[in-house]
Amino acid sequence: MGAAMGFEERAVQVGCAVLVPLGGRCAVGFVVSVEDRPRDAFDEQMLKRMKPIIRVLTDPYFDEEGAACAQWMADRYIAPLSSCIRLFTPPGAVPRAVRTGEGRWVVEQPAVGQVDDRWVAAGPAIEGFQPKPNAVKQQSIIEAVRAGDLRVAELAAELGSVSGALKSLEKQGVVRIERRRRQRFVLPGEKLPACASPAQVGGAGRGSAEPRTPGFFSLTAEQQHALSVIEGACERGDGEVVLVDGVTGSGKTEVYLRSIASALARGRSAVVLVPEISLTPQTVGRFRGRFGDQVAVMHSRMSQGERYDQWDFIRSGAARVVVGARSALFTPLANVGLIVIDEEHEGSYKQDSAPRYHSRDVAVWMARRSGATVVLGSATPSIESLCACEADPAWQRVCLHERANRKPMPEVTVVDMAAEFSRGERSMFSRPLAVQLQRELSAGRKAVLLLNQRGFAKFLLCRDCGFVPECPSCASSLTYHEHGNALVCHHCGYNVASPGCCPACGSPYLKKFGAGTQRVEAELRALLDGMEGVGPSVPVIRMDADTTARKGAHEALLARFAEPGASVLLGTQMIAKGLDFSDVTLVGVINADTQLHLPDYRAAERTFQLIEQVAGRAGRAELPGRVLVQTYEANSVPVVAAARYDRELFLADEHVKRRMLGYPPFVRMANILVWGKAEGEVQDAAMQLQREVERAVFDYAGPDGGWTVLAATPCALSRLRNAYRWHIVVKCPAGQDLSAALLGLFRHRKPSRTVNVAVDVDPVSLL
Ligand code: ADP
Ligand code: ZN
Ligand code: ZN
Repeated sequence: MGAAMGFEERAVQVGCAVLVPLGGRCAVGFVVSVEDRPRDAFDEQMLKRMKPIIRVLTDPYFDEEGAACAQWMADRYIAPLSSCIRLFTPPGAVPRAVRTGEGRWVVEQPAVGQVDDRWVAAGPAIEGFQPKPNAVKQQSIIEAVRAGDLRVAELAAELGSVSGALKSLEKQGVVRIERRRRQRFVLPGEKLPACASPAQVGGAGRGSAEPRTPGFFSLTAEQQHALSVIEGACERGDGEVVLVDGVTGSGKTEVYLRSIASALARGRSAVVLVPEISLTPQTVGRFRGRFGDQVAVMHSRMSQGERYDQWDFIRSGAARVVVGARSALFTPLANVGLIVIDEEHEGSYKQDSAPRYHSRDVAVWMARRSGATVVLGSATPSIESLCACEADPAWQRVCLHERANRKPMPEVTVVDMAAEFSRGERSMFSRPLAVQLQRELSAGRKAVLLLNQRGFAKFLLCRDCGFVPECPSCASSLTYHEHGNALVCHHCGYNVASPGCCPACGSPYLKKFGAGTQRVEAELRALLDGMEGVGPSVPVIRMDADTTARKGAHEALLARFAEPGASVLLGTQMIAKGLDFSDVTLVGVINADTQLHLPDYRAAERTFQLIEQVAGRAGRAELPGRVLVQTYEANSVPVVAAARYDRELFLADEHVKRRMLGYPPFVRMANILVWGKAEGEVQDAAMQLQREVERAVFDYAGPDGGWTVLAATPCALSRLRNAYRWHIVVKCPAGQDLSAALLGLFRHRKPSRTVNVAVDVDPVSLL
């Protein structure tokens, strides 16, 4: 790094954005370290390569720890350092270097920043100004401004398009238009939607700067134990991890809240990560209810301006608790003593673009460096975390076996859809499910129906016997490819023509699987309309990627569902989380097994988790709940084990399989993705890369290190967004440094213009 120049107002500090010469142009970079050395400490060669910093553009975005973390992530996840640094900068608020029409370089100030609102105020010429009689809008604007300054947006909301009228008034000096600072989003005292019950927000009044006194109930013995283990870890300050393994409704959130209160009392701050889809006003409300204005919120559905304001609020030091999605790990919160990761098993903690980091691993790394404590919580912990608790002395597991309200977990009934089908039932709603729907809805109660839609890969399934064609050598289901009508194994490349009838029973009812929510909704509507005591007045609320795309749509749908009386919430995975309605008495899983057949080693784990999670949504309060799981795999271990709440049964089976087939946590994996527009080029590049990877692995681990490089094959999602996708899977023994073996190769590879390559270290999915 160059030396600080005297002419700058801002000093060069770690974390600053700086303007630097780069080749023939200017670029914005970030200071990652500052060293003070005399000139003669450098040789000629180095002096030649050194460039002065042209200008310091901003105050620091991150400190030495942030810089170290970015560097660690870049190496661990084999990602560009710049992509890791970006995580620490407020989105959209960093200046950029751009070339003007005349070829000059200028620094473009970001559109997002502290000043973002346009206000209208009275100008010097307002006194006595008379607009033309037909200029109605001008008249209205003047009246409004005479009463006080207001935002352009407010004017527009009331009067429609106002830009023409404003421009004309501004020109005549009648009004002034200025940009002013605003705190967007999540102002204290923000209203909660109707669906949050007062009990969930801790009862106490909200909006004051003082932390609430803890909730009015006393902790259960198990909660108390969990809290004291966490407090012990905080006291030691050795970067330990505590896994809170507690059934849904066992009061994990209450444990987080008290742990945070205790961290704050020690003068430390806290970060709480929740999955994006659980980051509802309900969730935020629980933290605000306890910690008031000290809570900042960070998630990707907020606008850049909103995120900037929260970021700035955190940097100011006024925020002590940050609640957010995975990116909340990288805000400038000082003195973090506690990092809570709720629903730690969730796949969304892994970022699916560079840097492909896992929040849990980053949190553990950060905590180890700073002596903070990591609290992981889940009713269905990931197999990795469970194993770490067994193997790593820095990890501890505490269990909450009972729901806080002492209600039993709902009974889970498995409905064998293959049997239903052979009895002549053709509907996607089985008889038992229809019977239960009728019973609950006609009594004015609510039902939640889950349509399991993970993955896009199609597979074949015999509707008579439930047979799914599998790879003879990989024990994973074959993926159906429209193109060529073929079945393909995505682990080894095995490829056969799709059969015309079931190889197991000869039935012609071989179905390609994958049903859309809209179709299910239509069928459900028809079913309810013809149902005695139910009919068209019972609403079906569909919640999927389409209906929740708009900001606030998620909350609005939940609020509708919460209205008194019978209703059905039909949705994809996103409904399995965070729902807490007391009058949901029936939960149905329409297709529990679709992901069981995805060619993905986590399919069984996800299926088990999904059923357990969704079961926890029923019977949370006074009324007992019932769960129906429809499946063509009624006898598969994940389904049977989930229905019995028998995790040991599931784990025993899954461990054997993973060990035998060589999957995490018994090995570490890297998934090397190769994609591009031209199929042939992608294939060639993948084959070529495979040889390079083999060489790199050989150089690092030798011939007998227990490492494997699997043959390049098309991905299960072989075409995505118009690109052809291939992949190469690398496996190494658990505990070895996979990244170190591959880093050199990928740092020095020349990028191709037509074929992209990315490494996914410790992937959560191989699709
Ligand atoms: P989890 O996060 O484990 O699913 P929650 O923290 O949401 O569980 O708790 C479920 C419900 O139980 C919440 O309404 C919460 O306020 C309540 N609760 C938590 N702990 C207690 C307790 N010790 N006594 C009574 N109610 C509790
Ligand atoms: Zn295979
Ligand atoms: Zn069959």
